[in-house]
Amino acid sequence: MSNRDNFSQPTKDIIAKRAGGLCCFPGCGSITVSASDESDISSSSTGMACHISSASPGKNAKRYDSTLTPDERMHPNNGIWMCYKHGKLIDTDEVRFETSTLKYWKELGENISRLMHEKGVDYTTALKIVPKQLAENNLKIENLQNENQIIGEALFDSCIHLTWGEKLANSIRDFLIEHSRNSIIHGKGGSVEIKIDYNKITILDNGNEFHPKEFASIEGSGGKMAYSYLTDLFKKDIIITTQRIGDKNRTVISKLNQPEEIFDITDCSIELSISEFKWGIQDYEIHESCQELFVVLPKYFTASDFPRNGVVNKLENEKRPITFIGENLSDMVIGMIKDKYPKSELIII
Ligand SMILES: [Zn+2]
Repeated sequence: MSNRDNFSQPTKDIIAKRAGGLCCFPGCGSITVSASDESDISSSSTGMACHISSASPGKNAKRYDSTLTPDERMHPNNGIWMCYKHGKLIDTDEVRFETSTLKYWKELGENISRLMHEKGVDYTTALKIVPKQLAENNLKIENLQNENQIIGEALFDSCIHLTWGEKLANSIRDFLIEHSRNSIIHGKGGSVEIKIDYNKITILDNGNEFHPKEFASIEGSGGKMAYSYLTDLFKKDIIITTQRIGDKNRTVISKLNQPEEIFDITDCSIELSISEFKWGIQDYEIHESCQELFVVLPKYFTASDFPRNGVVNKLENEKRPITFIGENLSDMVIGMIKDKYPKSELIII
């Protein structure tokens, strides 16, 4: 008798149906079932239910988790639906395709097929409306040998190209590679850690104090090119913030789903109520290591909520660059912010 905790046929059917019969590999979405010429009642399938955690231990077992019971290992929760090509791929690389990565791909694939089913949209449209989250991943670069591949694969596996958009994803990849090289070669740091969370990418390096803005003074460098491209083209979409924390530089790249998420990304941030905005904020405390200030604007404010001339406002004397973050702002309000604070940046969510 086999000691493999294989999926039963009903379980395979559940896994396939929950994915709408579409491959869950990010960006594939191939249809895996259709009518067959063999007979009037036959169908052909090019899909497979892959184990997220392997069905049995052993040399070739991928992602085997001894803490699972056989029932848990055979449960639909432990399966992801893939086309043959991608099923074979994930079964050959346990190091790259971790359990947490595959669990996220399954969730993303099921969400996409549900949107296609419920809203009658195609795969590409479903991608645009699916929650914009990333699959978590952590990597550490300690020497410069294959940083392109390590960073490139980690970003792909996070599905950033699908949820944040391909052009932005490619631009972030360029920046991460250049930043890592710069930290190890010029910053004299021993390592660079890159942490991918659901809404942000954090780069930590233990080299000399460095802010990516300094790339601008390194004429002709790859770092300057990549940083300028990323910040010029996508400054309305993403937030990049850098702080020296202890003996490390910490840079965070984030695409906010809600303005308030900025507080999770950097403590160089404050929130204004309508009255604070209108009558002027007298005081706020941010850490002296902050090189910039992020200000979450109040919700639903309009023209007469803008400060009158002569209102004492600490924001107007702020030396650090200010980035305002607002939600559902009208063109009128956007124009008034630009007039009032001409040097500021504005991110609209
Ligand atoms: Zn596929």
